[in-house]
Amino acid sequence: MLTGLTALALGVSVLAATAVQAADKGLIGIAMPTKSSARWISDGESMVKQFEAAGYETDLQYAEDDIPNQLAQIENMITKGVDVLVIAAIDGTTLSNALENAHYAGIKTIAYDRLIRDSEYVDYYATFDNFKVGVQQATSLVEGLKARFPDAKPWNVELFGGSPDDNNAYFFYDGAMSVLQPLIDSGEINIVSGQTGMDTVGTLRWDGAVAQARMDNLLSAHYTDTQLHGALAPYDGLSIGILSSLKGVGYGSGDLPMPIVTGQDAELQSIKSIIAGEQYSTIFKDTRELAGVTVGMVDALLQGGEPKINDTSTYDNGVKVIPSYLLEPVPVDGSNYEKIVIESGYHSKDDL
Ligand code: BGC
Repeated sequence: MLTGLTALALGVSVLAATAVQAADKGLIGIAMPTKSSARWISDGESMVKQFEAAGYETDLQYAEDDIPNQLAQIENMITKGVDVLVIAAIDGTTLSNALENAHYAGIKTIAYDRLIRDSEYVDYYATFDNFKVGVQQATSLVEGLKARFPDAKPWNVELFGGSPDDNNAYFFYDGAMSVLQPLIDSGEINIVSGQTGMDTVGTLRWDGAVAQARMDNLLSAHYTDTQLHGALAPYDGLSIGILSSLKGVGYGSGDLPMPIVTGQDAELQSIKSIIAGEQYSTIFKDTRELAGVTVGMVDALLQGGEPKINDTSTYDNGVKVIPSYLLEPVPVDGSNYEKIVIESGYHSKDDL
């Protein structure tokens, strides 16, 4: 009969053997764009955790929104001999050479959240339904306008887009315009500045300071004696910049109600802002689920299975349509943030 101690030792060595074997499943290179936005930190952490639990080693790198830096990180992963690259690109059009090198080194590539364009060597794409994100942002904007400014038609609104080098930005914008354009055409919404279209309203690198400066300019050029009622903002970091600009000229106090400002990513600062009655809404995209989908894809690729996909028509990267898995985004505002982001454990009540 085994003594307790021997059994324990045996147990430990079995565990250690499993760990060694598990680590042998492969090395995954994870290239994330920046730590300046909390969502990407959460994406990275969730992936490392889930890859490790599935028996993989990881090399996680952040490039602080610097394109050459991200390229160097990816080249380095290729040299190191990763088995799969998981990439959330800074500029989705600059990776063609790197992916070609990866391909000839036998490395598969998964585009993570952001589509990688102009390369045939993108194997799969894991993301959310990005058009729907835009639809949800605009729907929430209109709901907010109706609720806060029931008698103010036409509603004076300004549009902000995401980074023009991020394919997602066009999907968000197009989704939003599918809701807003009919209201613009019918005269219910007035884009007072006349500025529309991604080439005019895009915000390079999703930079909140750029959005804030643009809002400052819009306010001084078009709103000195006109009241703004809403701003379509596609990402929480931009929303926070836009809100600072609005507060700077007195919105949200006295007889100037805060315009309806949308967002995306359910970042902590924005949930706090929603609770404070400043930002109106955001869109929650559960990065833990996206990590899960990605780990599943990688595991299937490396273990000889079929990665799970649910879309084979939407994401043409300029060379081919990339087989994709799209997750569902969830709109969040003052009425449901507790249920969606707190009860799900995405943020803790203490953080708020
Ligand atoms: C992501 C968004 C994010 C934005 C800025 C997009 O590609 O899909 O979730 O808000 O990048 O980081």
